[in-house]
Amino acid sequence: MTLFDRVFGGNDAVYGLTVAAVDNAIAQYGEAQAVSFPETAYALPCYYAVTGVKVTTLAEMKAALDVIKSLMTRENRLHDAFMSGVATALCAEFIEALKYIGGATPYEAPCYGHISDAFVRNLGVPLVTGDIPGVAVILGSAPTADEAVELVKSYQAQGILVTLVGGVIDQLAEKNYKTGDNVRVVPLGKDVTSVIHVVSVALRAALIFGNIVPGDAGNLMKYTMERVPAFVNAFKPLDDVIVACGAGAIALGFPVISNETENMFKVPKSLIQQLDVSKWNATSLEARDIKIKITKIDIPVSFASAFEGEIIRRGDMQVEVDGSRVDCFELVQTKEANEVEDHKITVIGPEIDEIPVGSKISLSYTVEVAGKNMQPDFESVMERKFHSWLNCIEGVMHTGQRDMIRIRINKADFEAGFKFRHLGEVLYAKLKNEFEAVVDKCAVTIVVDAEKNKELRAKANEVFSKRDDRLKSMTDESVDKYYTCILCQAFSPSHVCIVTPERLGLCGAVSWLDAKATNELDPTGPCQIVPKDRCIDENVGRFEDVDEAVNKYSHGALEHVTLYSLFQDPMTSCGCFECICGVEPCSMGVVITCREHAGVTPLGMSFSEMASMTGGGVQTPGFMGHGKQFISSKKFIKAEGGPGRIVWMPKELKDQVRERLDATAKELYGVDNFTDMIADETVCTDDPEQLMEFLGSVGHPVLSMEPFDM
Ligand code: SF4
Ligand code: ZN
Repeated sequence: MTLFDRVFGGNDAVYGLTVAAVDNAIAQYGEAQAVSFPETAYALPCYYAVTGVKVTTLAEMKAALDVIKSLMTRENRLHDAFMSGVATALCAEFIEALKYIGGATPYEAPCYGHISDAFVRNLGVPLVTGDIPGVAVILGSAPTADEAVELVKSYQAQGILVTLVGGVIDQLAEKNYKTGDNVRVVPLGKDVTSVIHVVSVALRAALIFGNIVPGDAGNLMKYTMERVPAFVNAFKPLDDVIVACGAGAIALGFPVISNETENMFKVPKSLIQQLDVSKWNATSLEARDIKIKITKIDIPVSFASAFEGEIIRRGDMQVEVDGSRVDCFELVQTKEANEVEDHKITVIGPEIDEIPVGSKISLSYTVEVAGKNMQPDFESVMERKFHSWLNCIEGVMHTGQRDMIRIRINKADFEAGFKFRHLGEVLYAKLKNEFEAVVDKCAVTIVVDAEKNKELRAKANEVFSKRDDRLKSMTDESVDKYYTCILCQAFSPSHVCIVTPERLGLCGAVSWLDAKATNELDPTGPCQIVPKDRCIDENVGRFEDVDEAVNKYSHGALEHVTLYSLFQDPMTSCGCFECICGVEPCSMGVVITCREHAGVTPLGMSFSEMASMTGGGVQTPGFMGHGKQFISSKKFIKAEGGPGRIVWMPKELKDQVRERLDATAKELYGVDNFTDMIADETVCTDDPEQLMEFLGSVGHPVLSMEPFDM
């Protein structure tokens, strides 16, 4: 039997099962029964991406089966095999969708099943920065549970997002191996059809970030091939269904690595036989051209971005640095070269092994930096990285910043010989590595002494408040240049963010100072200087220089962008925005929602649905992605009247922005406690009448504003 026969055989088998399953469902629920996955704006995302048609009922699903059948041509050509692979994937999606009928929750921990749009959007920034260098799809059972653990761990240590299907899930459970999206190991499900949930992520990435038109199958596959760094590891024995799914993976550009010996044939870079499972990591990375950045750090435990979201529970904790009760802080200070001894790590006070287990302690670390190109403005940029760096240490959890930090170090780390000094080693190595161009020398002083820290903290707070004054004085008017950020072009080829002091990048991760530092570190990199000499209209933020920059860096896709308008040439959105705002026509205000909020807004749309209105680097007047911090900026939709237009936000988001937003509204409109005048899900969800009633009852400023000039 040839491999072609196996693909066709597997495809036929799955198709038969799907037809039967759809017929059964119709018999049980009737043709009008709705079908959908939860928390997505793309219906059945794979079918929608490939064909451009949204399947929403069983009747439509039944009709769609004929479309799938038409892909299943049988002439033993490579093309037919690939299309049969795609057809198999679409059938798998239908089978999985049927599991969710009537709002059922077919998956339980540790399995995820369907993955939400918000999750896909969360992947945007880490994928473009290379923080997540690839996506592994592991199928079946490893020869032994130990080998399963080894393989998963090898990818995890490289920051690769690992998804699991089938027996490997039980193998990890047997070894008590921690899984979950916070450690980048995501069990999808035990049936082979659950592999569709990761395919669905890849295809939605193309729709969300790539602005691929649903139904444009050619460009869809080109996009996944060129831009989604996924690959498949399939353990033997492969049945025909898996072989057919594999053909689908290859059609999307994802190489398949297997230890199968029966009927294998090899396609260079696409279908690779590797009998030695311990070599799968290296073979896969090579096949998919994935390069791993390595920073050698001298510590006794692992260091990888996959551990960033790891949670350390109280019971597992050896010691806790508790900034909420005792004096703790983290600080970067610029020094002269002769004041810093490079790589000097000093611990003043007891080391971790001199402290009773379970203690809550006072600890501070001051990082002194010297360099010809160092500027005090970069201190805060570096300091903000500490959070992610320290979290990358396996067994260490860091939250907060400045003098409100909390660090937990777990018992396993302690037993492995982890010391406070190693925190210094990590900060030193990462700072030297990521800020190479500005840091010539670096030293770290860790103080574990409550008395001393009390004094030091007071001094650190003086530094912080000086910095805050500087930030406050930094407005769009007070600086002489803005910056581009085009990092997201890896996924959104024509998207350009213009970053100004009062408008950070829409991902929330790139402030004007960050962009400035990035430009300094890599003058030909993603952040380029945009002069601001030729202002056309200050109110909407229209500059000839900005237009020139977006035109150049979007490769001609964009001609005009304003900085402060929601209607006139608004800034484009890639897909990884923290928040999205949209016009609410009854109040002539705007609603804002964020990724964390799953419910609907008064527009009758959820975050996913609003987000699907824009993205991929296109302009959609009336909808705009933006960062959380931008909400309290005086420049937020300034052209349309400013943040006083905001009529609805999720409660959680209100609480995050309240302090600054209240201050801004007081200054702009003279109102107190403005955030309380904004409705949230406890006031109303999708009923504009309730919204209007509420706005009237609190005297919301939008009621006295002019209607939008749309
Ligand atoms: Fe992407 Fe814009 Fe953030 Fe840069 S600033 S990473 S382009 S969203
Ligand atoms: Zn982005």
